[in-house]
Amino acid sequence: MPDCLMCTYARQPLEIVRGLGSRVWDADGRSYLDFLGGLAVNGVGHCHPAVVKAIRDQAGQLLHCSNLYHSSPGSKLARELVRRGVGERVFLCNSGAEANEGAFKLVRKHFHRLGQARRVRLVAMQGSFHGRTMATLAATDRPDFRAGFGPMPEGFTFVPFGDIQALAEVLDETVAAVVVEPIQGEGGIRVPPPDFLSRVRRLCDETGCLLVADEVQTGMGRTGSFLASHDADVVTLAKGLGGGLPIGAFGARGPAAEALQPGDHGSTFGGNPVCCAAALATLRVLSEEGLLENATHMGRLLMDELRKAIPSAQVRGRGLMVGLELPFEGSRVVALARQSGLLLNVTAGRVVRLLPPLNVSEEEVLTATRIVAQAVEAARSNPPTPVASPAG
Ligand SMILES: *Cc1c(COP(=O)(O)O)cnc(C)c1O
Repeated sequence: MPDCLMCTYARQPLEIVRGLGSRVWDADGRSYLDFLGGLAVNGVGHCHPAVVKAIRDQAGQLLHCSNLYHSSPGSKLARELVRRGVGERVFLCNSGAEANEGAFKLVRKHFHRLGQARRVRLVAMQGSFHGRTMATLAATDRPDFRAGFGPMPEGFTFVPFGDIQALAEVLDETVAAVVVEPIQGEGGIRVPPPDFLSRVRRLCDETGCLLVADEVQTGMGRTGSFLASHDADVVTLAKGLGGGLPIGAFGARGPAAEALQPGDHGSTFGGNPVCCAAALATLRVLSEEGLLENATHMGRLLMDELRKAIPSAQVRGRGLMVGLELPFEGSRVVALARQSGLLLNVTAGRVVRLLPPLNVSEEEVLTATRIVAQAVEAARSNPPTPVASPAG
């Protein structure tokens, strides 16, 4: 059968047909422990029964009604996000890139409304990833992702991640916002120095710009707290928000929360009732099942066990956002682990990324650690050979 999908992804040779909890199954009925978690989307595991039920119930009631009317799932979700520190007002959209794109528009509009028309620049971090739309790509420090797509939107500057001095030097009266991932995900699970975010916060206050925290990957309890940032002016979420359905959001507080007025921004599918019902169920599951605590404990166990089992690698992260930096390129480890029944991916070339569901069990963590350690050992001791693919 010809593949009619555009070849934008280097897909692993595996077709997934079903998922439950921390496991997925391929077309032949073989099961895999999923420690990639749909790229931090399946935070409450695959097909969590409470999420599935919320989707089924809402689907039978109202699929879509447009933002020209009120609809309760979206209003309720916004309220729940505000309760959890995502600003004072929330805009609902469909993806991480769309949330960041909206956040960038919001900060510019905020200063425009204040009459500070020169404050338009956004300062992002080296190693950042904010999405694949034009503006989020302009904020993404990946020249390879940008190649061939120019001209990029203007007004984006990069400083080294974690370098407060370099940031201080660029923050002048032309900067609207600093945009930062509390822990860089695609960039290789890079954790900044412990006081970095609070110092960024202080610098933003001193120089009069806003702070945007891109919590698309770190949010929704991934790092063991609901958000990984504190007191940002704007917070963006997506990935884990919908428990597997596509939904994004950005929240703002203070005067910035009023920056977008009728007609300023929109999204046809934003706040879709089914996606919002799924997100509400996901939030309930996170608190009712104590998943932030579990993420903290299981994250510690995972990192301790990886350090013990693979002393040649550097292990870092927080909660269940964990990276294992290898002394060699990691794609073979991913292939070998998959053949042993464990799904992972590698980012930034040498960093094996582990993003298991937040309700992962101790036994699953230990099984995964054992498979990763064996895969690293096999990849290191054998010269790379083409890996036979188990499926199409
Ligand atoms: C994945 C990701 C995005 C982009 O999200 P999409 O839903 O793919 O558009 C943006 N920022 C961060 C930090 C991410 O991890």
